Amino acid sequence: MQLSKKAENINPSITLAITAKANELKSQGVDIVSFGAGEPDFNTPENIIQAAIKAMHDGKTKYTPAGGLLELKQTICTKFKKDNDLDYKPSQITISTGAKQCLANTFMAILNPGDEVLVSVPYWVSYPELIKLADGVPVFVETSRENNYKYTIADLEKSVTNKTKAILINSPNNPTGTIYHEEELKQIADFAKQHNLLIVSDEIYEKLIYDGEKHISIASLNQDAYERTIVINGVSKTYAMTGWRLGYVAASEKITKLMTSIQSHMTSNVNTITQYATIEALNGPVEDLQNMINEFENRRNFMVEELGKLNEVSIIKPNGAFYMMVNISAYLNIEFNGQKINNSVDFAKVLLEEEKVAVIPGAGFGSDDYIRLSYATSMDIIKKGIDRISLFLSKIK
Ligand code: PMP
Ligand code: GLU
Repeated sequence: MQLSKKAENINPSITLAITAKANELKSQGVDIVSFGAGEPDFNTPENIIQAAIKAMHDGKTKYTPAGGLLELKQTICTKFKKDNDLDYKPSQITISTGAKQCLANTFMAILNPGDEVLVSVPYWVSYPELIKLADGVPVFVETSRENNYKYTIADLEKSVTNKTKAILINSPNNPTGTIYHEEELKQIADFAKQHNLLIVSDEIYEKLIYDGEKHISIASLNQDAYERTIVINGVSKTYAMTGWRLGYVAASEKITKLMTSIQSHMTSNVNTITQYATIEALNGPVEDLQNMINEFENRRNFMVEELGKLNEVSIIKPNGAFYMMVNISAYLNIEFNGQKINNSVDFAKVLLEEEKVAVIPGAGFGSDDYIRLSYATSMDIIKKGIDRISLFLSKIK
């Protein structure tokens, strides 16, 4: 029997698969060092946990409106005003099961079969698959070291066609950690206006930013950019709430209506308790958050220094998020113990078998010369992992 061709054409999430594999080996007692998961190793702050417990005791355990609680939408509007200088009404907000569902809803709401979406390479694993699930076509725009792995208008002009519907931007970026500055965003907004494109702006790492850099939402640049941008955000990364599953999206009322309607059939509302906890997350104290960011920056600095010492390896220095791309091309197309290491998937597989270090192969992000290391893990583990990678490199070549 021919099952869904669309579903058969979807690759499973490699980030989640490797993280699950590393956790499984750990639970079997294997001494694994995991650089896989893009999730903070800190626990959710106590005030947020207490808000969830209170919500349950107060009987806040029923359905809410499919697109989310009005009180939470109002809190999100206040956040957008305070952090991004963006004016939204609650009728422009949809609350979904993680930023992932926000993206899925977005593509389903805006794409018709064959519509193209511009995606910069390297890209986060789920973008192409979510676009394909919505019958769209991801169009990959290569980036380069000279441009700090960001779109250039010249490359965008080469990639745009009369089928292009939207441009996707992710700043700070997963997996490169690069950040778009105001002038670059302005150019992208002008390009979108000129070609009448929607802009999908994934800003989930907005708070995880280093070196005194500042996050700017492309939607805040001018009225035209505001109207054509769909802003995606969520609490997974900023508040160490990956397992709670809450993301939110701001868009025009027209798009919001479509997304809410889709969601009302697919999942209904996000877990009610999580919604109440998120009101506390967005309104509560920021000390835990600042401590977490400081710690990520320390780890980033350490990784830049230590990975920089490895032979024939180069890195992309991140200014945000918590990932580092490591170029391992000097270690490809070799053989080790009878095993071929021809690409990043082979490299990651042999590294896991030989030294028990889990990393994500760059192939998942469209960049096969790289592996991705997440530094959302403790300094001790980072030290141990880099020692093991160093040993591995000296063994295989
Ligand atoms: N966007 C990016 C760039 C991500 O790395 C992630 C990873 N989780 C998401 C969206 C989705 O986040 P979540 O569904 O946990 O909110
Ligand atoms: N976004 C994180 C990552 O890239 C978590 C896993 C996922 O959702 O892909 O590792």
